[in-house]
Amino acid sequence: MTYKIDKSQNLFDRAQEFIPGGVNSPVRAFKGVGGTPIFFERGEGSCLFDADGNRYIDYVGSWGPMIMGHARGDVIEAVKARLDQGLSFGAPTEIEIDMAQTVCGIMPGMDMVRMVNSGTEATMSAIRLARGFTGRDKLVKFEGCYHGHADSLLVKAGSGALTLGVPSSPGVPAGAANDTITLDYNDIDDVKACFAEQGDKIACIIVEAVAGNMNCIPPSKEFLQGLRDVCDQYGAVLIFDEVMTGFRVSLTGAQGYYDVQPDLTTLGKVIGGGLPVGAFGGKREIMEYLAPIGPVYQAGTLSGNPLAMAAGLAMMKSVQQPGLYEQLTTRVEQLCTGMQAAADKHCIPFTTNSAGSMFGFFFTEAKKVSNFAQVCECDQEAFKAFFHGMLEHGVYLAPSAFEAGFMSAAHSENDINETIAAADAVFAHMSS
Ligand code: PLP
Repeated sequence: MTYKIDKSQNLFDRAQEFIPGGVNSPVRAFKGVGGTPIFFERGEGSCLFDADGNRYIDYVGSWGPMIMGHARGDVIEAVKARLDQGLSFGAPTEIEIDMAQTVCGIMPGMDMVRMVNSGTEATMSAIRLARGFTGRDKLVKFEGCYHGHADSLLVKAGSGALTLGVPSSPGVPAGAANDTITLDYNDIDDVKACFAEQGDKIACIIVEAVAGNMNCIPPSKEFLQGLRDVCDQYGAVLIFDEVMTGFRVSLTGAQGYYDVQPDLTTLGKVIGGGLPVGAFGGKREIMEYLAPIGPVYQAGTLSGNPLAMAAGLAMMKSVQQPGLYEQLTTRVEQLCTGMQAAADKHCIPFTTNSAGSMFGFFFTEAKKVSNFAQVCECDQEAFKAFFHGMLEHGVYLAPSAFEAGFMSAAHSENDINETIAAADAVFAHMSS
């Protein structure tokens, strides 16, 4: 049967009439790979089904949240059970305490937490808090890292911004970006030199503790520990943006995985079980700087929404099941090993990275890719051919060479084998 996406094409045509670019978040538009974005109808376990009835093994997982697979029974049931009690009160509910207590119980560096509605809100609020707490303005981030679309963070950013070639977006006032210092990921000497010059003006370092928005770049242990040491030396706040890595690379996020504790942590994606939730939390002395007990203002009409909390809490229970992260890591290793062997067989220059259930594929002669410059040197055309080949073989990967892939608990060994067989066929075609 030939691969058809006529209905997706029709829907895309219609969408472009009323939604800018036809999508509600830019990277979905397939600009990084060309072609028509696939419109999905439903998800089940490891798979997605599109409007034309095609089935795909999914390694995007809604960009991270679906770590237990799609339409997970316990999360859906928890939401259904809550529905009839009303959708939002804008007042405290017990389930918010259950959620906060659960999250603080899991994340090593978190005494207190506040819920928000997205990862962007979490990072934006954490930075305001760090600035208020230290009384300093400057922030350090790393090139290719993405922390959501707040003005001060949309400077040399990764993810869709990088894919579309606008890492520093027009519309960000110079004033908002002036206090953002951008350094090289995995280069601790760069960080030390910067702090030696202006350490007394720097409020915080924000870092993706495993970078997943310039493809998947794990940190060196010296890098993360070095950031901790520099922040301690200069009295700056260390923020781990774990919107992607939280409950993802391990139950305790990247901070548990690498055993380095930040002062503040931002969370999103998995924490909402698929509903719009973000959170930021950390040391009590910093968190108590927040309104209403402290001077730093932060708020939200729908923050701590009971339905979102029900989904998130059910997800938090699921991810605590024994052996989950070992299983995810094993599956990622099986996938990466198989993909490498298939690429080698067809003499395609290729390498992989992974951290827990996150992974990245790179079309490059380099043996290892560990910084932004090396990511940029990878063969984009080869990635595009690979992406479309995999799509036609029923494997849905992120439509950009600058995004990480995600494994879920629902991916079986059969799924992995099917994916590797698809890659074998695609690589054979690419090398012919
Ligand atoms: N931080 C990181 C590390 C992310 O990967 C993302 C989104 O991909 C964000 C922040 C922003 O989260 P959201 O898209 O929920 O606003």
